[in-house]
Amino acid sequence: MTDTAPQPCDLLIEAGWVVPVEPHGVVLEDHAVVVSAGRIVAVLPTAQARARFAAAETVARPDGALIPGLVNAHTHNPMTLLRGIADDLPLMTWLQQHIWPVEAAVIGPEFVADGVALAVAEMLRGGTTCANENYFFPDVQAAVYKRHGFRALVGLPVIDFPTAWAGSDDEYFDRAGEVHDQWRDDPLVGTAFAPHAPYTVGDASFERIRMLSDQLDVPVHLHTHETAQEIADSLKQHGQRPLARLDRLGLVNDRLIAVHMTQLTEAEIHLCAERGVSVAHCAESNLKLASGFCPACALQRAGVNLAIGTDGCASNNDLDMFGELRTAALLAKAVAGDATALDAATTLRAATLGGARALGFGERIGSIEPGKEADLACVDLSALETQPLHHVLSQLVYASGRQQVTDVWIAGRRKLDSRVLVDIDTGALVANARQWRDRIAALGR
Ligand SMILES: [Zn+2]
Repeated sequence: MTDTAPQPCDLLIEAGWVVPVEPHGVVLEDHAVVVSAGRIVAVLPTAQARARFAAAETVARPDGALIPGLVNAHTHNPMTLLRGIADDLPLMTWLQQHIWPVEAAVIGPEFVADGVALAVAEMLRGGTTCANENYFFPDVQAAVYKRHGFRALVGLPVIDFPTAWAGSDDEYFDRAGEVHDQWRDDPLVGTAFAPHAPYTVGDASFERIRMLSDQLDVPVHLHTHETAQEIADSLKQHGQRPLARLDRLGLVNDRLIAVHMTQLTEAEIHLCAERGVSVAHCAESNLKLASGFCPACALQRAGVNLAIGTDGCASNNDLDMFGELRTAALLAKAVAGDATALDAATTLRAATLGGARALGFGERIGSIEPGKEADLACVDLSALETQPLHHVLSQLVYASGRQQVTDVWIAGRRKLDSRVLVDIDTGALVANARQWRDRIAALGR
């Protein structure tokens, strides 16, 4: 044995278990993750890590399972301020009679900034380190995510009617270009095109999006095949199902993040697999709005990259990825009529590496591997609710709640420390949310 001096590193996290996600299904007992300059340097048994590395900071979590930070693959985080504003309604009634009128009255930079700030705090406390955002004022969202050191892909909205963000097609594209240019080289915040849905965006805008997403190499984040009504309307209006129409427009490719996808034929599932489409599965939103059931297991087994999202807080009503993991796993079994559908390891993979790949971040995050950025969450498994500990993956997916997340890092920076948010004033956030409650109540709906 050579007598080499220990190598300096920034951070050593010693965990009871490390669940790297890649390789698939593996749980490493008594392992440590070594971090330097925001990146994972090594994953190795704790005893070896102590001998080989001299860490500036060591965090020991002998009862904790360290997982990759969760990736929320579809959300509208400013809508956190509309949590519970209208429940128990079908999608179009909910949108047209409740959500859109309130949004028309409150939407603007202040609403967006305050909603994202509240969401960031909620996500961090639940082990989420990255969000695929889809809302107006992406410039404001990006600035708030950046200020909090939170990783996000912000959607550049395109919709066929005027909003507070843009008044015409050209203005949507001009503003999209400006936001993209501003953030294109940022290590934490990226951009995607976010056409709202096939029923709110015309062919001409989709064609521009196709061209620009190729040119700028950015994903296209789109709600589609959400309800049977959407399919029927598309057949009536365009003579094609939405996916066939998107294919005609050149958008069914590996840049597409297709959200919901509850209505799919066998042939459409295979088309998505062949073209490298990612599907963002929002199980709880689909259940709450009675939209339909995404064939998550059939998609995953066909080779489609499956990701998991909460959707906005107004249709969920939380940003709890642990809740979403469990719902997605259970629902997949019911839909497939097969208890082996979406097992625990596969579901956790969808909520981490699947999401990262969908967003185009697969080389940087989504698993605990040397070279990747250190986006990590530690889950305390010592609570009686997760005892006895027969199988770590089972406890994480089927028994753990987000309140068991103790620590979170994004790019190696601590964001949650023993359940306490770092650099976030939770009292001020709650006071601000109450102020929005009063302002919205005063609209007198
Ligand atoms: Zn949505």
